[in-house]
Formats: sequence, C-alpha cells, structure tokens
Amino acid sequence: MYEMSKEKREEKLINSLKSLSLFVGTGQCNAHCAHCAGRAHRKYAPTEDGIINRDLIYNTIKSCYGQGARSLSISSSGEPTLSPLAVTTVLQLIHECRKEGIEYSPINLYSNGIRIGKDKKFCDTYLPKWKSYGLTTIYVTIHDVDEEKNAKIYGVESYPNLEVVVSRIHYANLLMRGNLVLSRKTIGTFEQFVSTADYLRKIGVDCISAWPVRGADDKVDSRLSPLESELDKIENWVENNQGDGFIVKLLTEKSRIMYQTGQKLTLFPDGTLSNTWCN
Ligand code: SF4
Repeated sequence: MYEMSKEKREEKLINSLKSLSLFVGTGQCNAHCAHCAGRAHRKYAPTEDGIINRDLIYNTIKSCYGQGARSLSISSSGEPTLSPLAVTTVLQLIHECRKEGIEYSPINLYSNGIRIGKDKKFCDTYLPKWKSYGLTTIYVTIHDVDEEKNAKIYGVESYPNLEVVVSRIHYANLLMRGNLVLSRKTIGTFEQFVSTADYLRKIGVDCISAWPVRGADDKVDSRLSPLESELDKIENWVENNQGDGFIVKLLTEKSRIMYQTGQKLTLFPDGTLSNTWCN
C-alpha cells in the first residue's frame, strides 16, 4: 500500500492554503442587522480609523503567502468603508509586498454597500485609490433587491439604489460581486432566487455568491434558512446555468470544507489566525 512520506505530507500541508481574510477597521457600522457575526469581535477592534497592527498583518501576509495563499479579502467586525484610512493603509501594505515577490490576486473587500451608494465623495476619493493598490472586487451583501426590504433587514431607514452602487463600483474599474443571503423572509424560494439573479445580472453585477442565512454564531440559522428542497433546486439551477460568463455560486455547508481543512484563514482583531470564519 502506498504511504505518503513525512516530507510529502508536510509539503502538501504547506501548499494547501488558498485564501487569507483580514479584519480591518474600527468595528463601527452604519447598519443594525439582527444577526451580526461581526459584533462579537468589535471589542478587540481599534477605536480609531487608521490604526492597524502593521507588523502582525505584514507577518501574516508573508507567512500565508509562503503557505500557498494567493487570494485575499478584507473584512471587518463593522463596515470597512467607515474605516477608509485603515483599508487604504492595509491595501498599501499588501501592494508594497509585491517588491518582495508577494503578490495576492484577487483582493476583495466586503461591504454592505450603504456608504458606496450614499456618499459619492467617498467613492471618488477612495475607490480609485484602492483600485490602484490592487483591489479587484467589492463584495456587496444583498438581502433583497427591493430597497425597502433590504433596508429593513439592514435595520436602516433607507438603502441606496443597487444600480447606483454597482455603477459607482464600475466607475472605479472595480468589479462587484453580489453576496446573496438566502432567507425565508427575503430570497427564500427557487423562483425568488432566479428572479433576483436575473435582476442583478441586468443591472451589471459581475457575479453572485449566495448562501443560507447564518446566525450571530456564524452557523446556518435553520429557522430562517430556505427549505432544503428549495436549496436543492437552486443548486441544480446554478450547476446548469454556468458557461455564459456570469458566474453564480451557491455556498452550502459542503463549501465550508475549505474552512474546515484550513484552506481559508482569517486574521481576527484579537490577533488570532483561524479557520472558523466563513463569509
Ligand atoms: S452590515 Fe455587517 S457588520 Fe454591519 S450590522 Fe450588518 S452584519 Fe453586522
């Protein structure tokens, strides 16, 4: 029987990392979602924008690259666009690492899209700058394409028009991924999913990733998640509707295997590097 040598096993482990996620910013947020997994991490976040643990981030970027990670995402315990100085400094640092042959691509930023849709001056000031430092895509979380319903889930009075959000992202030559949170209250059936995907495609969103709603503990909320039968139909549709350039992905529990096997790591605000975060 073939047995892998100790060296081979170690080499496999070293090259198994694919992606790194960094928590950046103060933890301040302009939304009030009932299920917020970021909240638990806020007590460790800096209280002022612009403050980052430069050495820790640099060492993590370098070490994870050495272990095989090539894609990087910027997340936060709050809304990263409310900490633009910290995001800029981290992107600059990642960019500088290119001189040492450390090049992450793609680099993605998670956002709720509210500031992007409501604050043009912010977009004009920061989005082109972030693009020049290597940012590729903004991942905008969408609960519903109906602005009023989206606002309700976000716990805000109004949510900006998604066409404005996508056009501002494109104006900076960035891509937009719609992150769809599937819930019985919003996008909960196969029909709702397909009409949402069609609408987002029509307004220019570049690709979609969707997953069943999670609770504050970052686990699937079985009370609110769509029925398994609906998820199966969605999964089937997703598998059979690729190939024309508009990529739609459904992340189910099976997709969490990447986290469970440590292929995706997250640097949390308390300095922990772990595979327990999934978004
Ligand atoms: S937008 Fe994100 S960080 Fe802000 S309250 Fe909602 S889940 Fe939490």
